[in-house]
Amino acid sequence: MLSRTNFNMMNKLFKDKVIIVTGASSGIGEAIAREFAANGSKVMLAARSEEKLSMIVDQINEKKQEASFIKTDVSLEQDCRKLVEKTVEKYGTVNILVNNAGISMRALFKDVDLKVLHTLMNTNFWGTVYCTKYALPYLIANKGSLIGVSSVAGFHGLPGRTGYSASKFAIHGFLETIRIENLKNGLHVMIIAPGFTASEIRVHALTATGAEQGTSPRKEKRLMTPQYVAKCVPKGIVKRKRNMILTWEGRFTALFQRIIPTVVDWSYYTAMSREPDSPVK
Ligand code: NDP
Repeated sequence: MLSRTNFNMMNKLFKDKVIIVTGASSGIGEAIAREFAANGSKVMLAARSEEKLSMIVDQINEKKQEASFIKTDVSLEQDCRKLVEKTVEKYGTVNILVNNAGISMRALFKDVDLKVLHTLMNTNFWGTVYCTKYALPYLIANKGSLIGVSSVAGFHGLPGRTGYSASKFAIHGFLETIRIENLKNGLHVMIIAPGFTASEIRVHALTATGAEQGTSPRKEKRLMTPQYVAKCVPKGIVKRKRNMILTWEGRFTALFQRIIPTVVDWSYYTAMSREPDSPVK
């Protein structure tokens, strides 16, 4: 829970700021949208499931907080353009873009249909590129924040997740370059890497054929909560952080993969092979 002082501070800093959150119909994105709305921001939620978005926005509005939604498939450039245009039409600008929409996979590369990798890149990477392209002029004008929700899989390869890791590595390279290109503009760029977080991601993860996995191999209730991740985002923005890695394992990875990469390889191999029904044996 936030103390009253922290709440007042967050409320002051984020009041009336315009935030776009992609992938806001579930899990981490939904929690981030609710968190910013509670801090007094004007939040635009984006995802494909209109019904879920509508329900979440109604619940936010019932608390006299400001939120709207636009049905968006981030893998489509025209949807991302429309998302930004409609947000500006409604709220006047964009202060913060949270590129959160994402899907995962679970299959060894030797078995996987390449369409799975295309789908992952189109959603995770190209979705980030498209939304950023159209929001960037507003973010720069406001000295705002450009956020990418990544993963430890963006710091080191995760077996059984080639497309997922590749998409997160690509996001890192993309966002890092945007940060450098805008060093003199006051744009803030942050990559946040949650740990395993309770959400729908593993249920919707694509298997070798492209079908959804349908269940989670993890005990979801024991994982990090989306609400915890959501509380970290505004804190990172206030501190203008470049990276927020939310677990010790993640920090270990980011630090040691350059020093003792083989040890990190084996620890990833061992950890992922222990998952029930893991394709990594
Ligand atoms: P969820 O599956 O719960 O949420 C994913 C969100 O992305 C949903 O709102 C979904 O909405 C949206 N989405 C998927 N495809 C598209 C698309 N083409 N266009 C628009 N929206 C889309 O998963 P999480 O909350 O866990 O995932 C959010 C982010 O967090 C992802 O980027 C993920 O990589 C990252 N992450 C998650 C971790 C975890 O363990 N949960 C760990 C580390 C990082 P809809 O289906 O309605 O379009």
